Amino acid sequence: MATQRAVILGAAGFIGSHLVDRFLGEGWDVLGVDNLVTGSRSNLAHLAREPRFDFLEQDICEPFEVAGPVAAVLNFASPASPIDYLEKPFETMHVGSIGVDRMLQLAERKGARFVLSSTSEVYGDPLEHPQRESYWGNVNPIGPRSVYDEAKRFAEAITMAYRRYRKVETRMARIFNTYGPRMRLDDGRVVPTLVGQALRGEPLTVFGDGSQTRSFCYVSDNVEGIWRLLRSGYQEPVNIGNPVEMTILDFARAVQRHVGSACPIVYRPLPQDDPRVRRPDISRARAELGWEPAVDFEEGMRLTVPWFRERVAEQR
Ligand code: UDP
Repeated sequence: MATQRAVILGAAGFIGSHLVDRFLGEGWDVLGVDNLVTGSRSNLAHLAREPRFDFLEQDICEPFEVAGPVAAVLNFASPASPIDYLEKPFETMHVGSIGVDRMLQLAERKGARFVLSSTSEVYGDPLEHPQRESYWGNVNPIGPRSVYDEAKRFAEAITMAYRRYRKVETRMARIFNTYGPRMRLDDGRVVPTLVGQALRGEPLTVFGDGSQTRSFCYVSDNVEGIWRLLRSGYQEPVNIGNPVEMTILDFARAVQRHVGSACPIVYRPLPQDDPRVRRPDISRARAELGWEPAVDFEEGMRLTVPWFRERVAEQR
């Protein structure tokens, strides 16, 4: 793909804002769109004087037009942390359905490639481990997480429909747990929550007995995977995550180590339908995109803790 113009939806969010930086760095022009329901203008503040970047405050569930040519539409607009989507169930379901439909129409009108940010949550509480893209998942369609999981599953289905029936060129990334600078300190996810607690000298809240697992991918690796996916010819879903799996209790111990704190670990009830295990099989990404993570967990934490340290200092 030649250097062109991208529309990045959810541009003020954690991953969206890093994607904006990457596309600008590659010489593209970028229109960032966000309604700031969970995103923050501060994630884009460094681009105030960037002539190749425009920002539109806009809910993608409402109609709007984009003037001029567009080569790529990247849809990263959605509440994505459990507390965000539990607080904003309707926004989450609408953006994953109406919003994705509208943005697929935009891609169709512009003849643009469309990238959907899907999620490991489409696998639910998985019975296959690690998770390959061929696995259909084990999702509770009426549980509290269903507002997110089913919105994303619908988003995948409608993306496939636009590809099959309208010939839109689509790409689908199933994104596993991702972390790094620009995560919101209060988004409720385990990385900001525990690092924030350790920095404030508070106990670290481990849900359940901490034996559930996650696999954490540093944000620059995620962005590299998305970049390669857009440029590849590959249209099936691709897992983008780090296959190094750890228990949440081990994660809490790593936080103690990295923040240099003697904060105790306290145990809290496990939320309903919290997946027991999660780890991507990334064979497909390796084969189709030549991609695998380059930043290991220790380095990723060293790059991330200072971000949260500054945010905690601002709150004091
Ligand atoms: N978790 C925890 N303490 C917290 C927040 C989360 O033990 O303060 C656990 C949560 O129960 C889950 C894992 O950490 O098993 C990852 O949770 P997160 O909200 O980051 O995202 P998820 O992977 O569940 O979407």
